Amino acid sequence: MADPITLRGLAEIPVARLKGVGPKKEASLAGIGITNLFDLVTTYPRRWVDRSNEARIADLVPGEEALVLVTVRSVTKRVTRNRRTMVNVNVGDGSGRMDVVFFNQPWRERQLQDGLQIALFGKADTYRGGLQMSNPVVDLIGDRTGRIVPIYPQSEKAQINTWEMAGWIEETLRRCAERGIADPVPADVLRSNKMIDRPAALAGIHLPEDMQQKESARRRLAFDELLRVQLLLVLRKRAMERDQRGIAHVMTGTLVDRFYEALPYDLTGAQARAIAEIEADLAAPHPMHRLLQGDVGAGKTVVAIAAMLAAVEGRHQGAMMAPTEVLAEQHAMSVRSMLDGVTVPDPDNLFGDRPLRIELLTNKVTGGRRKEVLAGIADGSVDIAIGTHALIQDKVDFASLGVVVVDEQHRFGVEQRSALRDKTAGGRMPDTLVMTATPIPRTAAMTVYGDLDVSVLDELPPGRTPIVTMWANGPLMESGVWNDIRSEVAAGRQAYVVCPLVGESEKLEVASAEETIQRLAFDELKGLRLELLHGQLPPDEKHAAMERFRSGRADVLVATTVIEVGVDVPNATVMAILDADRFGIAQLHQLRGRVGRGEHASTCWLVTQPNEEDPEAGNPRIEALVATTDGFELAEVDLDLRGEGTLMSTSQKGRSDLKLASLRRDRKLVEQARASAFAIVDGDPDLATHPLLADELDLIFSDRDEAFLSRG
Ligand code: ADP
Ligand code: MG
Repeated sequence: MADPITLRGLAEIPVARLKGVGPKKEASLAGIGITNLFDLVTTYPRRWVDRSNEARIADLVPGEEALVLVTVRSVTKRVTRNRRTMVNVNVGDGSGRMDVVFFNQPWRERQLQDGLQIALFGKADTYRGGLQMSNPVVDLIGDRTGRIVPIYPQSEKAQINTWEMAGWIEETLRRCAERGIADPVPADVLRSNKMIDRPAALAGIHLPEDMQQKESARRRLAFDELLRVQLLLVLRKRAMERDQRGIAHVMTGTLVDRFYEALPYDLTGAQARAIAEIEADLAAPHPMHRLLQGDVGAGKTVVAIAAMLAAVEGRHQGAMMAPTEVLAEQHAMSVRSMLDGVTVPDPDNLFGDRPLRIELLTNKVTGGRRKEVLAGIADGSVDIAIGTHALIQDKVDFASLGVVVVDEQHRFGVEQRSALRDKTAGGRMPDTLVMTATPIPRTAAMTVYGDLDVSVLDELPPGRTPIVTMWANGPLMESGVWNDIRSEVAAGRQAYVVCPLVGESEKLEVASAEETIQRLAFDELKGLRLELLHGQLPPDEKHAAMERFRSGRADVLVATTVIEVGVDVPNATVMAILDADRFGIAQLHQLRGRVGRGEHASTCWLVTQPNEEDPEAGNPRIEALVATTDGFELAEVDLDLRGEGTLMSTSQKGRSDLKLASLRRDRKLVEQARASAFAIVDGDPDLATHPLLADELDLIFSDRDEAFLSRG
């Protein structure tokens, strides 16, 4: 008898081989990305309904969302006075009857034939003494029997019903049963993680006998998805460690110690830990790929400088890259001031130490100055180069680039990373440290950055006056905000006003900012010196506006989100974020980080318009910001509220094969999968003794995108 069939085997069988899939259905299925039996069996139900104890009309509670399984009793259509079509459907089950109305969906009349079984999901309200749902989500479930009804994702366009999907999948599983379905995950891994086998999981997800069976099936299949991602990341990580030649930095510690002595404060415990982790990486012969996560103000610059100095000490160079020129300039300023007076021990120099040479290189550095900087980078006399991505362009030739620090990972892509390889003598890869101020939860970091090592600055430097955050909901409280700004300005402080987010268009955003500043100048903040900053100002005007605010010649900076990163004015102690409910948690947190940077206590006001339907309504995002200033805690809340959408771009998620697994719900599974991936790869670095597993990775990831693998 043939071997049990693998996922690849299923992928080689076209759906047309199934009964009932003719050319028309084949085309419809292809339209939703299903061409073979692998696609089919990994199309999972999006809901499972237990007929025996849920989904009855009698149990509906007005005002609450619920699902009911019902039979269509009658359908009528009419056009309302304001020319909307209205389809009225009366439905019933053993427990009662209900009306359902659909507005502007005339085709429902044809779709919902008398006697049809459907599942409805929506909010029931009382209407004329009875219950009514309007515009619920409808699933046609046909005449399926069985206690649990799986409901498949379906698109009206594709013209495929959930019962057809269920039928084809059932047929596939039945016809595979004789030959068996292969399980490529080693038995000991399954045992130690208490997982059921794959054939049982596939049956359990599509044809569960009860909800518990469905749950263990989901757990196993989600584990498989996470394991595949982790295997990919761990294989890549180990391969980099094995194959990439890096620099084994030789460090005496003298230069770094001089830097610490020059600092007016002690390192925080978290900084010391991160630096120790980095130094261990630098000493090793393979290149470092490390992510430094730390909230705004956690002191990442100190860590970055220590890493670069370690390189300089061993006669290599350090480079620091920022996403924008403005940020690069600010980094250059703060790095220079922190290293003021620090000299490099130089055994070759008869006259003792030499000064550190730090240079800025952006597109604004031109002409003779640019030539000078480039020459210094090439001959090794520049110790630390700070700039934008211009730093790793072809024309920039480093004598020996040892450590690269990249600020804000999002914009550091694949090409940039590979460009680095050419920057050192003999094709050795410099050590890279990627810094991000957007904390993400641990298990999510394992998935999104699973090929990097991670250091976390989870401790703020002492002596900060925490920012008090308040929610100003409605005009009455809002007037308190303007009073607060006036009194802070009167006390010599400065303020930010962040303008509402307007749609997707930057033009609208600018218009709203201009409108806001006019209104404030005329009314709420009359008499104060206001300055406008938005993304569409020409660069020199932007610069000038920022400079007037920085130097105290303006009291209030009215700005769009352009101030989100990098602006550092310690005298600013109040921020008002208008229409705060339009921003996401991470963005509000970043914005808020612009205050609380000096010795004075700071306040951040989140201004909203009250919800007219329900003035008492809460807002979980705003409440989370009021409750904590801890970025990691907020990241967890964000993950809970929004799911993984916050973490991975759609394309990343698409590529990452997570259909059932959720980084939010399955945090424990992520850790289990990662540990299992390490165990498998460390025992079998090329997956030579796990050919089925290797083949499965190949099947699932090969045609998707190298980029998921090689993301910076
Ligand atoms: P991040 O880049 O993580 O947002 P920075 O590196 O800009 O933070 O540091 C924020 C501020 O904290 C800077 O003014 C810096 O001088 C200060 N700082 C950094 N480390 C410490 C420390 N260990 N003790 C006191 N202040 C510190
Ligand atoms: Mg920083």
